[in-house]
Amino acid sequence: MTPMLEAKGLVRRYAMRRGLMGRSVEVRAVDGVSLSVERGRTLGLVGESGCGKSTTGRLVLGLEAPDAGSVAFQDKPMPPPGTDAWRALRSRMQMVFQDPLGALDRRLPIGAQVQEPLDIHRIGEAKDRAGRAMEALRAVGLRPDQAARYPHELSGGQRQRAVLARALATEPALLVCDEPISALDVSIQAQVMNLLMDQQERLGLGILFISHDLRAVRQVSHRVAVMYLGTIVEEGEPDAVLHEPAHPYAQALVSAIPHPGRSGQRIVLQGDPPNPADRPSGCAFHPRCPVATALCARETPVLKPRRGDGRLVACHVVQGDVAPAVTRKAA
Ligand code: SF4
Repeated sequence: MTPMLEAKGLVRRYAMRRGLMGRSVEVRAVDGVSLSVERGRTLGLVGESGCGKSTTGRLVLGLEAPDAGSVAFQDKPMPPPGTDAWRALRSRMQMVFQDPLGALDRRLPIGAQVQEPLDIHRIGEAKDRAGRAMEALRAVGLRPDQAARYPHELSGGQRQRAVLARALATEPALLVCDEPISALDVSIQAQVMNLLMDQQERLGLGILFISHDLRAVRQVSHRVAVMYLGTIVEEGEPDAVLHEPAHPYAQALVSAIPHPGRSGQRIVLQGDPPNPADRPSGCAFHPRCPVATALCARETPVLKPRRGDGRLVACHVVQGDVAPAVTRKAA
């Protein structure tokens, strides 16, 4: 299947001032990320906070320009951000953020906010847009009378439904969801995820689902990519990656989630959490990796298919380039 979204080698650097003298250092928030999303499918993007997931989401939508790499949407290169061609595409690509209250305008009723993207992109006849906005609200389980309410008059779950209605009103092809359920109660999380899957089936949506919640990612994703310090370190089917991860970082991440069908103890990583401004040489995970070898500090492993099961892994040891040699650092 041809991907509707294809990103290749995305790099995003930021300059950061550090120390008393304000020395400028370069932070590579995203460092060579390639990914694709197909129609009607969901790619889950997981990793710790600060690993570059959200920046990747903004890059693929063109909300930020990459320093290197390319994005193609529906077989065409993404136009430069801010241009008329890019704005015209935005109705086909929508984003849902973590904080529904922050994503909504407190001064406008919900119905007007759902209709707004239809007006901005001049979708359909002007006289029909209010009706389309109502349909979008109904599709996410909100009542027509709630269209007149303001964001603070709705519950957290209802607000996130309103954000989804706004994102879905233009009938986009691609939805980037950045921690869409993190701010919601557990009972509401399930409702919002079911809603996302229903809408995916209805519209054939391609979804990039960004989350640190592995259970949610497993529930909604057809493919999963694990990020560490700006790079993808493992990618494959959810059952493989989230049940029997191959990369040592993915193993540690997954081991923290209790699962009835999985044996083994939690892997507690040694060393400090990663600092993107002070990126280790070679494999960025090597100072914390329990099976690092001397090669790991020298050479950056490439993400490539693992012999045997074909999932993509970036690790010298898993790839069989070297034998594992435990060089665990003291905590
Ligand atoms: Fe660990 Fe080396 Fe693999 Fe990196 S390349 S994850 S340091 S074994």
